[in-house]
Amino acid sequence: MKFRIFKQVPKLIFGENSIERLDELLPEKKENDYYIYVIDDYFQTESLIINFLNIDKNDHLIYFPATKKEPTTDQIDDYKKMILKKYSNKLPISVIGIGGGSSMDVAKAISVMLCNDGSSREYQGWDLPKNEGIYKVGIPTIAGSGSEASRTAVLMGKDRKFGINSDYSMFNAIILDSNLIKSVPKDQRFYSGMDCYIHCVESLEGTMINELSKGIADKALSLCTDVFTKNSKNDMLITASYLGGVSIVNSEVGICHALSYGLSLELDYRHGYANCIVFNVLHEYYGEHVNLFKKMLLDHDITLPTNVCSSLDDVAIERMVDMTLLMDRPLTNALGDNWREILTRDKIRDLYLAM
Ligand code: ZN
Repeated sequence: MKFRIFKQVPKLIFGENSIERLDELLPEKKENDYYIYVIDDYFQTESLIINFLNIDKNDHLIYFPATKKEPTTDQIDDYKKMILKKYSNKLPISVIGIGGGSSMDVAKAISVMLCNDGSSREYQGWDLPKNEGIYKVGIPTIAGSGSEASRTAVLMGKDRKFGINSDYSMFNAIILDSNLIKSVPKDQRFYSGMDCYIHCVESLEGTMINELSKGIADKALSLCTDVFTKNSKNDMLITASYLGGVSIVNSEVGICHALSYGLSLELDYRHGYANCIVFNVLHEYYGEHVNLFKKMLLDHDITLPTNVCSSLDDVAIERMVDMTLLMDRPLTNALGDNWREILTRDKIRDLYLAM
């Protein structure tokens, strides 16, 4: 089997309070140069982040409303238009994304779209951008999505949720500062942490795994499991998130992600939350891992909703089935080349109705 070229974020600073060293990763500004900051709007009222940043008057600051819903292709196109207009087509020399997976994905998508013509809709898929993006730095403040390590910027379109998957959507540098994830609310920490858990399971149980990504995913899974079953250390969780992301770069996600995109599309569920709802019904595919997940739900006093599709009509359910059937790569990874014979329309519909 021919493996993908293994690509990783080339520069990384790890450790508590390492956000103070952001300047070391940024290109130096000359006259009129500027940076774009994309920051989770949670930090609009929380000074934890902003005090560490040397934002000057020429820089552009976007507070992304990450808690409302997943980023859309329209939002990215609007940001692009607005930036090009404000700076008379002069491009920034760096884009910095600070927040959870959504805010980091917005930073990645802006970086790529400023250097590629047209709408972000045209680049949802695999290896479609032709030009390298603007130099970009990612700083997670919620651990689990692995966006800091991955080559994906996931965007919601009108009729599909799909990532811009490209080497050009990978960060050039990241900061893993465990101090930044300590104030995440308990539930959000769990849902996002389980996104990491599920990345590792899907990577390890998939057909596209190799020894290299197995080594990485194994370590990420054991760290993540320890965090949610034994001792909850922020350094361990931020490491697990990163390593889980790295393992996915060199393998692929699986059935849970393929189904969760449908839930996010029709019910506006956030990624980690949607993944938890799906994973809960995937025992026949991920066995022991689902049992442990259920135990972690109990231990952390998390109750998932049931019968989540009851508010949807048949047309919406069929759209979710269609969305899942577009996920060829994850489903090939999970079930092999003949996945369409195993995960039929009826089977996918049954799974949705069991959630
Ligand atoms: Zn994920």
